[in-house]
Amino acid sequence: MSYIKGLKCRECGKDYPKEALHVCEFCFGPLEVVYDYDAIKTVLSKDVIASRRPNMWRYKELLPLDGEPVVGFDVGFTPFIRARNLGKVLGVKELYIKNDAVNSPTLSFKDRVVAVAISKAREFGFKVVACASTGNLANSVAANAAACSMDSYVFIPADLEKTKVLGTVVYGSKVVAIKGSYDEVNRLCSEIAGKYGWAFVNINIRPYYAEGSKAFGYEVAEQMGWRLPRHIIVPMAGGSLITKIKKAFNEFRRLGFVEEMETKVYGAQPTGCAPIVTAVKDGAELIRPVKPNTIAKSLAIGNPADGYYSVKAIKESGGWAEDVSDNEIIEAMKLLAETEGIFTETAGGVTLGVTKKLIEQGRIPKDESIVLSITGNGLKTQESLYGKISEPVVIEAKIAEFDNLLNSGGDAYAIRA
Ligand SMILES: *Cc1c(COP(=O)(O)O)cnc(C)c1O
Ligand SMILES: [Zn+2]
Repeated sequence: MSYIKGLKCRECGKDYPKEALHVCEFCFGPLEVVYDYDAIKTVLSKDVIASRRPNMWRYKELLPLDGEPVVGFDVGFTPFIRARNLGKVLGVKELYIKNDAVNSPTLSFKDRVVAVAISKAREFGFKVVACASTGNLANSVAANAAACSMDSYVFIPADLEKTKVLGTVVYGSKVVAIKGSYDEVNRLCSEIAGKYGWAFVNINIRPYYAEGSKAFGYEVAEQMGWRLPRHIIVPMAGGSLITKIKKAFNEFRRLGFVEEMETKVYGAQPTGCAPIVTAVKDGAELIRPVKPNTIAKSLAIGNPADGYYSVKAIKESGGWAEDVSDNEIIEAMKLLAETEGIFTETAGGVTLGVTKKLIEQGRIPKDESIVLSITGNGLKTQESLYGKISEPVVIEAKIAEFDNLLNSGGDAYAIRA
């Protein structure tokens, strides 16, 4: 049983059938999935959701599949924790972390969108799945395609982190590294999608793919005890996740699952690639594309597909946007690890660094509920920390050497860059 009515152009409102379409043929606006909420209301309740297995498919009526998923059976329902130690450091009363750094199977929030996209590609009858990726999407498409025995082609910029490249090739995906930026990779992939008829998860089936991000928002609401936070900070690359978290909260309100007023959403980007943040700060309608130069490679999209809509989502909610330097990103990665025992990738450093800044600026009040969106795992971007953190102290296996070390004070653990 499907609750999808069809697709609708976000610009001119023209309706389309639920097919493998992504742009409006009249105005070139992006298409979005439309649901029959009245029908959903008759079958879905908080009790029904709570009785289901702890994965993203517990909200399946609100996801755009006609049948059952074919892959990603354990995706979602990632940990949600009260971050008391970090809250103390930041001087805030009620801080939470939604931790998609441990999502299944490839340790980032992209496992959500890919599980939906590949299942949908199968429903449409595609034989090959593909993507243009800044790293995490590559990992997830490769792993999930392998798990459901589909052929996959993954296109990445040639300068990605080694771990992210390895974590794609290992699944047997055909990986093509392009000499150029993500935006150039993406342009080429649009041509390939048209020519070869493959399902590019984030291009020609993007309307379905993007809906997978909503589950991040549903889980935050459910895990808070069917409440919404007052503030949520979200890292932005193409700008899709932030708009879908807002959509998820709106849908839950509409279905009567939560009562809170609108959550303020805040966008986070690295200073070396902050086209959406710049537009928010300047009050600009249009995004001016940039050439990325940042260690946060997973967020390095200079011409974000959903930039315009993310600016709109931030403004409508009463939120704001900020950016942080590469050094601030690393400091924040260390802070999260040291206070909460969570090793996030550079994108998580961006999210926490921006949160700290917004609290210091007084944009986010200290006495209201705040959720940090941690979207990726630190084990995948280790090279960003080389030379920036202390190394182990090496001694002989002798008690005297250890005694010396203990008596030497903290100097032995200094950073040796
Ligand atoms: C892709 C990605 C994002 C941003 O997602 P968009 O929907 O493109 O804005 C955030 N964090 C991580 C770790 C990502 O890989
Ligand atoms: Zn249109």
